[in-house]
Amino acid sequence: MNITKKDGFRFAFDSSACEGCEGRCCIGESGYIWCSVSEMQDMAKYLGLEFDEFTSKFIKKVGYKYSLVEKKVDESYECVFFDSKLKRCSIYEVRPKQCRTFPFWDSFKDDIREVVKECPGILVL
Ligand code: SF4
Repeated sequence: MNITKKDGFRFAFDSSACEGCEGRCCIGESGYIWCSVSEMQDMAKYLGLEFDEFTSKFIKKVGYKYSLVEKKVDESYECVFFDSKLKRCSIYEVRPKQCRTFPFWDSFKDDIREVVKECPGILVL
């Protein structure tokens, strides 16, 4: 077990659950995976792409923010960088902060129902 806790959250997270989970935080309902410009630069570099090529392939602008695009698989959505065969992130080393900080998102501070349903690593305190 590899358990982390964070002040203000009513749950702990056991990251060893990720091994058997098959990426449930990267697939499911449509949503946004927000990225900063520097994160986009890091991802482009990691993939060996020019910044413009990376953004035109993988980024959508939403208002004044940027998100990774999704792909529709059957009735579900997946992050464009989710490897459906290996069931893991294909850019794990440079994944955006939103992915690195899961499940400790502010939106889960008050309402833990969604994250409990989605993530087998959640331990309700
Ligand atoms: S960047 Fe990686 S960790 Fe983040 S949603 Fe996409 S596949 Fe998942």
